[in-house]
Amino acid sequence: MDPRGSLSVPRRAGAYPGYPQTSARQYRFRRAVVLVAAASLVALIAGCLSRSGSAPAPLRLAWVFSPASNTVTIQVTPPDGTDGTAGRQVLAQSRLAVSEHGNGHTERWSAAGGMMQVPVPAGDRTSLLVQLTGPQPLTRTLTVSAPRPPRILTSAASSGRWLVWTSDPLRAGPPQTLCGTDQVSLVAPQQLAVSESAAACQAQLQLTAQDGEQAAVPVTIPALSKAKARAVPLAQLYCFANPAGRAIYITIDDGWTPSTEVLDLMHQTYLPITAFLIADAAEEHLSYWKDFVAAGGLIGDHTVSHPYLTKLTLAKATTQWGQARTQLGRWLGQTPVMGRPPYGAFNHTVEVAAARAGLTALAGWSATMSGNRIQTWNGKPLAPGEIVILHWVPGLGHQLTVLLAAIRALHLNPKPLTPASFAGIAPQRHSLSGD
Ligand SMILES: [Zn+2]
Repeated sequence: MDPRGSLSVPRRAGAYPGYPQTSARQYRFRRAVVLVAAASLVALIAGCLSRSGSAPAPLRLAWVFSPASNTVTIQVTPPDGTDGTAGRQVLAQSRLAVSEHGNGHTERWSAAGGMMQVPVPAGDRTSLLVQLTGPQPLTRTLTVSAPRPPRILTSAASSGRWLVWTSDPLRAGPPQTLCGTDQVSLVAPQQLAVSESAAACQAQLQLTAQDGEQAAVPVTIPALSKAKARAVPLAQLYCFANPAGRAIYITIDDGWTPSTEVLDLMHQTYLPITAFLIADAAEEHLSYWKDFVAAGGLIGDHTVSHPYLTKLTLAKATTQWGQARTQLGRWLGQTPVMGRPPYGAFNHTVEVAAARAGLTALAGWSATMSGNRIQTWNGKPLAPGEIVILHWVPGLGHQLTVLLAAIRALHLNPKPLTPASFAGIAPQRHSLSGD
């Protein structure tokens, strides 16, 4: 400390020789300064003490939504950084009221202490008006969006198991055993398998979505023997076909722009091509497609009007497949047995619809033509068993010439694509991109 510090220790005049003499007036002035400073300090401390006693910092409102139970937990807490005693006193004198906005009838009151759980409807946005009464009143509006609980889209029996397709991806929940012995397992993100017993039974199937949203869905699990008889037929989708004999499969989609060059190539050499035709497009050039069939071409079903079948109901998807199949058969004398979903978009419903419309299988693809370049699913050269997709567009003749040169160079053999081509091949599970 500075030995000359004059505020804390007033010095007597002449106490330290060698320093200038302090006059009586200066001494009185310094004493006054010290007294004022001390008085200010006392006032400041007193002010702080009185404020912490009667006016604590404001309470805080916190809330959290639980998708598993569809409840909002609302809690009032004392502010951070205090010892909490005063805050707890205020809390003890406070109550929490929650009502749905615009609906005073559902008002709920908490016990003193400020914590409550409020259920909210699933699949909805709910506005909650939160009011705190007591020494520190407070009003807030919370908006909560509760996700829709998972639902069952469809179910089918398959080789001793009952398969359930769900609206949302699930996560493995706690182990479930239905009807005493039927084990439940998650076999795909949106697919559960239930092992079947000899007798049919009713149970509650617990679904747990990946976000934690839960649903208990009443189900009737068919008996093993009856389930086999009631199995839903499917026209499954395949992206690869039988590779025997270094087979390769050429498919051309849509049909808006027929190509005489393709017909010429087919006349020069037997070239098994499957045209997946949109019925609306085929109708515009019926004589061309009759020539195509006469040249050995195969006709596949590419729907009436090329919609995303995954966005349609089962009934509408069935009409898209079925009407195109019937019309193409009537116009061209060859009724399609295979279909290709527009954009490669398919799911279980699309496969059921195709079967109901009379189709046996759906064809995807594993290789496309991008301009004059062949792009395979794995970036490697074309391999036996691959299905190549092209489109009836201007320039198709040249694309097909480039493709046939590559096929020859790789010693591959174009073969007709039929449902038998898929024997022993695993069906595709995930949707494709393209058209
Ligand atoms: Zn298409």
